[in-house]
Amino acid sequence: MDAVLKSLMRSAQSEMEASAARRPSREEAEAAVRTLIAWAGDDPAREGLLDTPKRVARAYEELYSGYRAGPEAILDRTFGEIGNFDDMVVVRDIEFHSHCEHHMVPFVGKAHIAYFPVERVVGLSKIARIVDIYARRLQTQEHLTSQIITVIDEILKPRGVAVLIEAEHMCMAMRGVRKQGASTVTTQFTGVFRDDPQEQVRFMSLLRGVRS
Ligand SMILES: [Zn+2]
Repeated sequence: MDAVLKSLMRSAQSEMEASAARRPSREEAEAAVRTLIAWAGDDPAREGLLDTPKRVARAYEELYSGYRAGPEAILDRTFGEIGNFDDMVVVRDIEFHSHCEHHMVPFVGKAHIAYFPVERVVGLSKIARIVDIYARRLQTQEHLTSQIITVIDEILKPRGVAVLIEAEHMCMAMRGVRKQGASTVTTQFTGVFRDDPQEQVRFMSLLRGVRS
């Protein structure tokens, strides 16, 4: 493991430790939800809302579970038996649910990821798992894109990685400009994908290609 990856893992670790040290109790979290319900204009003591703070706290544990999972979770296994295979591996249509860090409302979409393996590949489910780890945090789509590409680049040391994310942001659909159906697309490329526009074109056309 090289220095960059080590420092990446260290910073993930210290982020987790820092947030663990400051982590409020479940009672405090539930009290905060009651405050927000009252702020919205409802009565947190009415029957239908009595258990809501408890449910919200529990939902948060799942929706933000990415803070308690580091990329090391997916580092443990790569496969060396890839024969002469040296073309791109594309995993497309990885669905994700995330929350924008500006409004804490969902943005949902799909991630499409490709890489050129060098000697080793990673299980395809691990690629989807990386997306989940970073999506289940407060995010911007741009940061999500760059975190995914950085960790794949560092883990697999491939000849190149391409990440394309398309998502709809509820903060745009439900509030503010209220534009439904608008999707935001972000891309990032490393290695041969960055250096060779032809490979970007191949990646894009594979995303549009045969669908079963
Ligand atoms: Zn937002």
